[in-house]
Amino acid sequence: MKIIMLGAPGAGKGTQAKMIAEKYSVPHISTGDIFRANIKNGTQLGMEAKKYMDQGLLVPDELTVKILLDRVAKEDCAGGYVLDGFPRTIPQAQVLDNALKELDDQIDFAINVDVPDENIVRRMGGRRACLSCGATYHIEHIPSKKEGVCDACGKELVLRDDDKPETVKNRLDVYHQQTQPLIDFYEKKGILRTVDGTVDMKDVFAAITAILD
Ligand code: ADP
Ligand code: AMP
Repeated sequence: MKIIMLGAPGAGKGTQAKMIAEKYSVPHISTGDIFRANIKNGTQLGMEAKKYMDQGLLVPDELTVKILLDRVAKEDCAGGYVLDGFPRTIPQAQVLDNALKELDDQIDFAINVDVPDENIVRRMGGRRACLSCGATYHIEHIPSKKEGVCDACGKELVLRDDDKPETVKNRLDVYHQQTQPLIDFYEKKGILRTVDGTVDMKDVFAAITAILD
């Protein structure tokens, strides 16, 4: 099963993608997590990506597409995967489509997690991320057991640099201009499914599993 998560930054793509990955035993692939791991490790790719991420801009397609294609070519992806944060532009979607076509394969569903902009700004300010294992929490809706500490690995939770209000606004603008057209792209292919992302995360997940099952 090959799934794409669509939606604005902060819509809950990562939260749902992790649950999907666990239930259906497929890898969760987040290009944002891959970039953040590279930043943390001080790689060339990380330093290049950081310049864009800190401003709320997209990392250029040339860099992003290569890391994604390398990742999905790995053996653990043979039975499928859930993509979170990729594609974010039409050219990225076309490259993925062509790569899959060459293998006589295709994406099964593009799940659009729909959340209005007003909710997004509130959510991002409350998001706390573990830069060590990639887990995410929300200070009100999905708190960690101990404030500021990751339940999964015990490391510190932080407000991501790109979740600060001024950057969130840029990220939403970028989303509307460059990523939202993908909704139409996958609608035309007949594989788009939209779920209400404003309800409790368990109810969002129930709506998604009803589609996937
Ligand atoms: P994305 O991957 O789309 O950027 P996240 O999954 O990181 O979004 O979610 C953004 C923030 O909203 C996080 O703090 C997360 O804990 C919280 N969140 C996710 N789903 C819900 C939900 N259904 N209701 C309330 N808060 C949520
Ligand atoms: P995310 O963790 O998905 O919110 O991504 C964080 C940031 O990483 C984004 O704001 C972009 O700067 C960058 N990024 C992640 N995925 C992509 C992508 N597919 N294309 C371009 N930039 C990306």
